[in-house]
Amino acid sequence: MENLTYYRPTKALIDLQAIKANIQSLRNYLQPHVDIIAVVKANAYGHGDIQVAAAAIEAGAVMLAVATPDEAVRIRQHFAHIDILVLGATPISFIPYAASENITLAVFSVQWVEQAQQIKSLQSPVKLHIKIDTGMGRIGVNSLEELLQLYEIITSTAQFSVDGIFTHFATADEEETLYFDKQVDKFKELLQYLPEKPRLVHVANTATALIKHSSLQFDAVRFGISMYGLLPSSYVGEVLPFPLRPALALETELVHVKKLHAGQSVGYGATFTAADDCYIGTIPIGYADGMIRKLSGQDVLVDGKRSPIIGRICMDQCMILLPAAYNVGERVTLVGKQQGEEITLDDWATKVETINYEVPCIITSRVPRIYIK
Ligand SMILES: *Cc1c(COP(=O)(O)O)cnc(C)c1O
Repeated sequence: MENLTYYRPTKALIDLQAIKANIQSLRNYLQPHVDIIAVVKANAYGHGDIQVAAAAIEAGAVMLAVATPDEAVRIRQHFAHIDILVLGATPISFIPYAASENITLAVFSVQWVEQAQQIKSLQSPVKLHIKIDTGMGRIGVNSLEELLQLYEIITSTAQFSVDGIFTHFATADEEETLYFDKQVDKFKELLQYLPEKPRLVHVANTATALIKHSSLQFDAVRFGISMYGLLPSSYVGEVLPFPLRPALALETELVHVKKLHAGQSVGYGATFTAADDCYIGTIPIGYADGMIRKLSGQDVLVDGKRSPIIGRICMDQCMILLPAAYNVGERVTLVGKQQGEEITLDDWATKVETINYEVPCIITSRVPRIYIK
């Protein structure tokens, strides 16, 4: 897990202490009996699954959640004992691995269970968490009838055991609670008809865990975005019960600096033309790193000063307008702090008209993740 040598100065710096601090703050905030499920899907929201998983376990997470069976395999290869839940759909072909490696799966289809019954000689029963669709419309059983049918067939199938039940909210991060409350009511209603309460009932994503009534913490919460120090929405920021520490910074260095004369242009399409003489810098990061072309115009930090990206962003490089003639090798902060100035993943999200969740996910694997302890 140590860092390899990288020659290009472009790096994502991941602060594992920040991740641990965010989990510990949540731990102190939750009711003592409530477990933390650390959501490390999508390479831990782009932060690096293995290192984040290790930090989360150290900070007290008792289960890791991933989206896909392949993500579960990666985690299991590094952590032999931690409980792992696959939140998304799993093909039947994964069940033998899940049985031998103790991977817990989401279940929401009678047909899937029937197909699984054909698999003989599993090492041990596979633990399942029943997914209820209470209004997300994604995966999950949609009615009491479906739920009871599914429960019945699982409990009569030797290959499986029911370990948990869960649902997911569509509007937990919004101030308006009408739709959220409807989802809660549906979940509670269905739960009440189950012959036996499973070991782990969990409904809360980050927003629910942080800002909704503590009764919705049930047995566990699924902590995702705020583990990385990011807010699920600006509304959650207004009512946040404890401060968060962002874990990701993105840095590079100037690799070329030049004086541009008035009238000279920059980049493909020559879309930027200098009005006056100015200094520009070239930085080795481009859209193949996730710095998508829509980020043209976004500020970066040089010597604590805001400097805009000018012209079109290239695949591997882009150009910035410098406040002065800096030297090659000068540090450039794309996300993070310099001398009291800060550029956040939220700033990027605003610039490209998306949510902060999406931004670290699209920083590609060409950008090394460097872990600072
Ligand atoms: C991604 C995901 C989460 C985590 O959501 P956050 O808003 O990041 O906390 C929780 N539950 C499910 C089912 C998810 O897919």
